[in-house]
Amino acid sequence: STVDFSMYLHEVIDRFDMIASKRNIHFIREISAQLAYVKIDRDKLTQVLDNIISNAMKYSPDGGNVTIRMEQLGQNVHVSIADQGMGIPRESQSKIFDRFYRVDKARARSIGGTGLGLAIAKELVQAHQGEIWVESMYGKGTTIFFTLPFTTIKEGSR
Ligand code: ATP
Ligand code: MG
Repeated sequence: STVDFSMYLHEVIDRFDMIASKRNIHFIREISAQLAYVKIDRDKLTQVLDNIISNAMKYSPDGGNVTIRMEQLGQNVHVSIADQGMGIPRESQSKIFDRFYRVDKARARSIGGTGLGLAIAKELVQAHQGEIWVESMYGKGTTIFFTLPFTTIKEGSR
């Protein structure tokens, strides 16, 4: 279906507000109000965002900020989710989109997960003709970026 992407993004983030506030994590929303219709498989893209946002929370300390940005650049919407958590060492950054890869086995064991979330996210973003990548500084924080092509004209809803 075709969604108003900023409205859709706010709805996804809203669902995390309660659990975030319990850990004193603040969402900073820098979401362009400019109208951008994006054709998405809503369930699948929500799965992508759910994993990225829950990663940002689970690999961050209480009280951190998670900044979610959305802007239009050329024919794409650019989305980023930035946290102030533990970060990812440079040598691991190219591997986090691999199936079952988790940074630092010992650390990973104490934090639940299978290492599949970002591998699935990558497949689903690519299925939407988008790209996904990471920038991170170990000990400082992580930002996940992805793009999606947008359409300016809303198609008939179906
Ligand atoms: P799952 O998502 O399947 O429950 P997971 O969160 O471990 O498990 P991914 O979401 O694929 O798996 O992430 C892969 C690994 O990348 C994580 O185990 C973690 O080591 C690292 N990682 C992902 N996001 C972050 C982040 N925001 N900050 C620090 N490390 C991260
Ligand atoms: Mg995950």
